[in-house]
Formats: sequence, C-alpha cells, structure tokens
Amino acid sequence: MHKITIAIDGYSSTGKSTVAKQLADWLEYVYVDTGAMYRAVTLFAMQNDMIIEEKVNTSKLIAALPAIQLEFKKNTSNGKAEIFLNGKNVEKDIRHLHVSEYVSPVATISEVRRKLVEQQKKMGEGKGVVMDGRDIGTVVFPNAELKIFMTASAEQRAQRRYNELLERGDDVMYQDVLENVQERDHIDTTRKDSPLRKAKDAIEIDNSEMNMEDQFHTILQLAKDRIAGRV
Ligand code: C5P
Repeated sequence: MHKITIAIDGYSSTGKSTVAKQLADWLEYVYVDTGAMYRAVTLFAMQNDMIIEEKVNTSKLIAALPAIQLEFKKNTSNGKAEIFLNGKNVEKDIRHLHVSEYVSPVATISEVRRKLVEQQKKMGEGKGVVMDGRDIGTVVFPNAELKIFMTASAEQRAQRRYNELLERGDDVMYQDVLENVQERDHIDTTRKDSPLRKAKDAIEIDNSEMNMEDQFHTILQLAKDRIAGRV
C-alpha cells in the first residue's frame, strides 16, 4: 500500500507521542520520538559536566557532538522503540524532570539541531513513518502528506505530565511541572532556529477537552484519507 509521512508537532505534553505510537502501530509504520533525541543529548551534557550552575556550556557540547551516538532499538518484551545513548539504554533516564529543565536550552543550539535533523531525515527516507516533535512539519519533513499540530491548555498538559511522573514513582510537585511546561513553551516558540510553529498546511487539534480515543480515531481517519489519496 502507498506509504506516507506523518508529522506530529505541538506543545510539550499534548499527548503527541501517545497518538503517534498508536498510529504507527495501527499503520505498521516506524515511530520516531524526536524529543527523546534532544533529551538524550541533554543527558549526555549533564553526565559530562557541560551544565554548570544551570548554564549549558555550548562550545564544549558542540565540540563533543561527534562523540554522541544515538540509536533506537526495539525492546523485545514490550515492542517499543527505546533510545540508546552511546550504546546504553537511557529511555527511563531522559524522562526525569531534571532533564526536562535543560532540554529546551540545549535544543536552541543550531549545531545540535543540525545533527539531529540530519539523522531524522534519514530515518524517514523510506516514508511509512510517524515522527513527533516541534519542527517536523516545518523543517524535517516540510512535504509530509499529513501534518498535525497539537495544543491543549498549559494546566491540562502539566496535570497529565505530573500524573505520569507520579505513576513512575518520581517525587515531583505539580507547580514545578507546570512551570517547566510554561518555560519550555516559551523557549521552544521564541528560539531563533526552527521555533515551534504550526505549519501552514497542518491541521490543528486542541485536545484540552477531547478524549484520547476520539483523538486517535480523528487522526487515523485523516491518515487513511491521505493514504487513499482522497485529499
Ligand atoms: O517531546 P519532548 O517533550 O520530549 O521534547 C523535549 C524538548 O526537546 C522540547 O521541549 C523541545 O525543546 C525539544 N525538541 C525540539 N525539537 C523537536 C523535538 C523536541 O526542539 N523536534
């Protein structure tokens, strides 16, 4: 069957990855979580003393970029793709609030973006890919057949992320999660290189009041229409 590229962009914690994964499973497409890539680079910077007194040492990180190797591998027990940083599975470590606090500053660095975007383009070369992030429909795949832009209120998003972190056993406060979501929105939308923007031809979905099941079926129908060449 004709394969397409699906780009899902939007604000933090809008449920992009959940719906992207569901779509990829249903369509038997490859799912790529580009946020995980920026998070893994951030974890590398944290582990290698490149973040001191809350500031990212940009030149040191740029110099170290060739030494950063990222790879997604399927976990055979749950079938999910997990990210490996220089051979080590860091899927859990990259989700901590601590990493969330530094990831947006790291993602403003053009050299970091260039390296990751190049890798993302390669991963989507054969089509049949669902990729989620902030610049997929605008920069990585401007010709994607289906572009979705997801939004929801900051409070709703923070509540969802807070519940997820609690479920994982993290000791966090709702207010800190809300501030992090707002801070990342601000940095992601105002950075110079590839700011978070809705692509002109993206379909906006505000899921503040939407149930996840309905959202999935809405997007799946859009994908089916594109695959069948109906739109
Ligand atoms: O999607 P997730 O919340 O895991 O992304 C973490 C951060 O990575 C975002 O807040 C953003 O700063 C950055 N990011 C980006 N471009 C992407 C994906 C993520 O700048 N394509």
